Amino acid sequence: MTNRSQVAESTGHLVPAGVSPRWNRVVLKLSGEAFASESSDDTIDAHTVERVAREIAEASSDLGVEVSVMIGGGNIWRGQTGAGEGMDRATSDTMGMLGTVINALALQDALERVGQPTRVMSAIAMSEVCEPYIRRRAVRHLEKGRVVVFASGMGRPFFTTDTPAALRAAEIEAEIVMKGTHSGVDGVYSADPRTHPEATRYEQVSFMEVVSRDLRVMDLTAITFCKDNNLPILVFDVMTSGNIRSALLGEKIGTLIT
Ligand code: UDP
Repeated sequence: MTNRSQVAESTGHLVPAGVSPRWNRVVLKLSGEAFASESSDDTIDAHTVERVAREIAEASSDLGVEVSVMIGGGNIWRGQTGAGEGMDRATSDTMGMLGTVINALALQDALERVGQPTRVMSAIAMSEVCEPYIRRRAVRHLEKGRVVVFASGMGRPFFTTDTPAALRAAEIEAEIVMKGTHSGVDGVYSADPRTHPEATRYEQVSFMEVVSRDLRVMDLTAITFCKDNNLPILVFDVMTSGNIRSALLGEKIGTLIT
């Protein structure tokens, strides 16, 4: 993998002396609902997307971290919603994947408006809209200082975007999957803090414990994939301003699953 100083050279971004990110290449998993508006019915809230984009852009340019994003689509459609109403599951999941493309384009637009070169790579071919996902090309984009937004998840039904986030991380040799939460729960807790106020947040927890205690932080498939491939997961609150930077610097926020 290209080291940080080389990336800074190739992009022209100077990493300030003394600033040393803990991770040099990451996959950030963003739920589509993180883009939805709390204050209106908007499916995509421009201000929220802009804030997240600004933070990602700063991480990429100020810290020299190679950032890719797996974007979800839950603000638009979830496969299970349709399947629950009797739709064919594969069709319904395909609708969900198309929703992720809409979010990816919104994020690309916001990133480029703050000056961050960005490429959307889709697992479902749509050459008029974005690039196809090609692993080596994704790595090249990152090395050149571009943010890569992965759209369409895995391109296959019966998954959510959690598992392709982990898969892409392994493929591009990212060091961590950063799972941004948006529900106010800022990490992994001993129980659901919304219903168990006495629950405590783990600073660090093992994959085994997450699985054995059924701590629902990501899809089980994603958790076991990360475990098998020695890929740590950081669960953190992405809605709090500054948290993406803090997470990349290795500050003690959220929960690290190892
Ligand atoms: N999806 C899929 N295959 C994938 C990724 C996503 O079929 O590889 C579909 C699935 O129906 C899912 C929807 O896309 O419900 C939206 O993704 P997700 O639920 O992960 O969005 P998020 O909750 O992260 O916003």
